[in-house]
Amino acid sequence: MDCLFCKLIAGEIPSTKIYEDEKILCFKDIAPQTDVHLLVTPKEHICCANAITSENSGIVAYIFEKIPEIAKSVGVTDYRIINNCGEGAGQTVKHLHFHILSGPNLNEKLV
Ligand code: AMP
Ligand code: ZN
Repeated sequence: MDCLFCKLIAGEIPSTKIYEDEKILCFKDIAPQTDVHLLVTPKEHICCANAITSENSGIVAYIFEKIPEIAKSVGVTDYRIINNCGEGAGQTVKHLHFHILSGPNLNEKLV
């Protein structure tokens, strides 16, 4: 499968890892839009939020359990979580991921 984040998770593409366990990986976005811009992704390939089902939704809950710990580890308690689902919403990498954004320019964003 030609998936950028699967390759990154497999170590075939370098990344700046912030947190990793057997289920998820968190790494720095290569083109940060705020002071802190991290991506959290399941290691399992799920293309997007439209593909979340009762079978695989546990990983989403797990990611949201881990986000406060990850945020704290980089020194932030105030942050925005964004998921783009589909090209029309700006999704460019078709492997489910959540952006964690923190910094002074968050007020310029849509929500
Ligand atoms: P999205 O547009 O919501 O699909 O988010 C994809 C994100 O992945 C963008 O913010 C990109 O800057 C980021 N990105 C693309 N390639 C890499 C990479 N090799 N390492 C880290 N982040 C990346
Ligand atoms: Zn993938």
